[in-house]
Amino acid sequence: MSSPFSLGHSRDYTIETRELLGNKKVVKKLFTPGPLGVSVATKEAMLQDIGSREKEFTDTVKLIRQLLLDLANVSPEEFTTVILQGSGTYMLEAVLQSATPRDSGQVLVLVNGAYGLRIEKICERVGLPYESIPFPEGEKVDPQQLELILRNKKQQFSTVVVIHCETSTGVINPVKEIGLIVRKYCPGAAYIVDGMSSFGAIPLDFQDSQVDYLISSANKCLEGVPGFSFCIARLEHFRKCKGNARSLSFDLYDQFEEMERTGQFRFTPPTHALLAFHHALMELVEEGGMKARGRRYHANCEIIREGMKKLGFKKLVPDAEEYDGFIITSFLNPSDPNFTFDEFYQRLLFLGQVIYTGKVTQKDTFRIGNIGHLYPEDMNYLLNCIECVLKDMHVAIPVSY
Ligand SMILES: *Cc1c(COP(=O)(O)O)cnc(C)c1O
Repeated sequence: MSSPFSLGHSRDYTIETRELLGNKKVVKKLFTPGPLGVSVATKEAMLQDIGSREKEFTDTVKLIRQLLLDLANVSPEEFTTVILQGSGTYMLEAVLQSATPRDSGQVLVLVNGAYGLRIEKICERVGLPYESIPFPEGEKVDPQQLELILRNKKQQFSTVVVIHCETSTGVINPVKEIGLIVRKYCPGAAYIVDGMSSFGAIPLDFQDSQVDYLISSANKCLEGVPGFSFCIARLEHFRKCKGNARSLSFDLYDQFEEMERTGQFRFTPPTHALLAFHHALMELVEEGGMKARGRRYHANCEIIREGMKKLGFKKLVPDAEEYDGFIITSFLNPSDPNFTFDEFYQRLLFLGQVIYTGKVTQKDTFRIGNIGHLYPEDMNYLLNCIECVLKDMHVAIPVSY
């Protein structure tokens, strides 16, 4: 067999699986929360070496910063874009320490899943005093409950953080309702939104939602290649942040000043990733912008959820919930004794279909994402593969719990 993937066990394959494999080279598709697949043209845009001081490069960076403001529908008088080398977590770490004053800093973290917990971990490591309010995994950060808690708090917060799409469960948090409460009870606080897996597909009104910092990265809904993250920062707050950062690489204000002054990065920029990103943004425009991209992801999501339901799979978040997003779906692992996630994963990988483990502490789950360079036909093909793999594993369909 010519497949580059190897399977660590020796069960037989059904005829259907063999037909799926055929003689074709397996084209790998990523149904994950990241890294995500990108178009061939986006990858081709990287096939160029460029110097960091070349005008073509600095112009491209400038254009990217402007395009991101346009995408967010905010003006350059009120907001700026800062780009930082590294994955999304790097930018979270940079914003948290740059937007939190050294002496009077107190961070409030709203946690309803693994990415919220990561914010806590960053605070701990960086040494930022923090407090968190936990909400159940698989449910939203509830604005009413939050209001009740904040109303009775003596503590003043300098920084409040929430995750827009909690990619561990797929839940979409009500960023706007939360923002209004933050403004009311913590008027001077920086309101930070981790929009990593939502920006580019789920529109967000920065003014109505009171957002001061929106963080995302190149390789989620914007479909660039991994290598950097960015932040859209409200200048009114950000201008007060000089000197806050506790470390050099994560000093976002320093990065901003250098970019404004010279158009350059302080340290080696991910030049190829930026060229790819510029192309990816053009593709987004061609597709019809954020709304159109959201519609494609939505269509992908409906196909996978309907198909998985037919196979008997249950979701973590109940269907009817208004906070059930369309970026990624957490499914509960079936109880069939022949089902193990590891074998399921390996067999799907063998067919070029990459799904993802769960990230929920209370229940056994796995995840199927539908963002990145994925289209309805990819979702249908994945469903075919899943059905074949279940048969190969002798798991009864519909699956049982
Ligand atoms: C992907 C993601 C991150 C960042 O993860 P990295 O691996 O550092 O890119 C942070 N928050 C959310 C909600 C995410 O989906």
